[in-house]
Amino acid sequence: MPSVYLDNNATTPLLPEVFEAMRPYFFDWFGNASSLYERGQRARAAVEAARRTVADLLGASPAEIVFNSGGTEGDNQAIFGLISPGDHIITSAIEHHAVLSACKRLEALGAAVTYLPVDGRGQVNPKDVRAALRQSTRLISVMMANNETGVVQPLEEIGQIAAEADVWFHTDAVQVAGKLPIEVARIRCDLLTISGHKLNGPQGIGAIYVRRGTPMQPLILGGAQEHNKRAGTENLPGIVGLGKAAEIASNWLANGGTDRMAELRDSFERAVHEQLECIQVLGLGSPRTPNTSEISFEGISGASLTVALDGRGISVSTGSACASSFGHPPYVLMAMGLKRSQAQAAVRFSLGKQTTKEDIDYVLGCLSDEVVRLRGMSPVWNTKNRLSESTQC
Ligand code: PLP
Repeated sequence: MPSVYLDNNATTPLLPEVFEAMRPYFFDWFGNASSLYERGQRARAAVEAARRTVADLLGASPAEIVFNSGGTEGDNQAIFGLISPGDHIITSAIEHHAVLSACKRLEALGAAVTYLPVDGRGQVNPKDVRAALRQSTRLISVMMANNETGVVQPLEEIGQIAAEADVWFHTDAVQVAGKLPIEVARIRCDLLTISGHKLNGPQGIGAIYVRRGTPMQPLILGGAQEHNKRAGTENLPGIVGLGKAAEIASNWLANGGTDRMAELRDSFERAVHEQLECIQVLGLGSPRTPNTSEISFEGISGASLTVALDGRGISVSTGSACASSFGHPPYVLMAMGLKRSQAQAAVRFSLGKQTTKEDIDYVLGCLSDEVVRLRGMSPVWNTKNRLSESTQC
């Protein structure tokens, strides 16, 4: 049976070139980057080389890159590193839990938080950001693209508002880095989070861009690593891997990777539309990351379809990996105004750089079989069809 992995928003496969770049730093050159002898200096040079390629991916300067353990830490760092009780934060209702849970904790500690709504296409309205500003607002944190729908937020407008109001601006770019070009200067953000394992790098490594002069307090205290912004011995192989993944991603972006990926995703969505009635592509009409397609299949449960496709060797997910494993309601889709039944009928297909047309053709064949089979067993779908001659979606 073929095996097709379409859950690249949950995590991506490590590229062999990335693994090969990391290998010497597990064995021959395993030094501590703070040591003065050669092994340590080799490690230091490797960390600094990786810092340059990550900076290049974001249009930042190397001194503005701080390595950490990934997206969750970066989001927590940005929020806890700037906010004190009494401060006000503006964020959106569709952020990753790494942002939402940090905001909830700060609320309990006496900060105020505004959770902005999104429209039916999954976008925050910059006017709402402006209207939410208060005297006490210190931080705006709005993600660059959502992990479930791939919808890209109007960050340049939000960055402009933040700059005019003299408020710090953080964006979670975990789902964008390596898929769409990023220029921190265009967005005018002060902080930006990325994660290695979402761009074919290793798990457990990430980075936060901290614009020069941003008074971010460290989250983890100890040694003076990362210019006193993130204590702890550097994850040397991880950093080297993230650096290599960033370099490969920069080349992929420069060589038209985004358009090729979007074309494959769009051809998938067109074919699903042709094969099946009563489906809804979520976030359609908004700019989206090129790899993400979240589709609601009326009359069935997304979880059942996910299990059925798994039985055919296809990995997809219902919303975010974290949310589905903890049984949370699909809050991102509910925030977009979907009914609970529509939200629970959604499945996310997220393509990777390794995804081929043959993979997509295989998925399309299995998908229409399984949706038709599950609808055949669905009381909701069958009742509706008994009530009306032709199906009205
Ligand atoms: N932010 C977004 C938008 C994500 O999709 C994820 C992971 O799914 C994270 C943050 C957390 O990143 P990590 O898994 O590196 O902690």
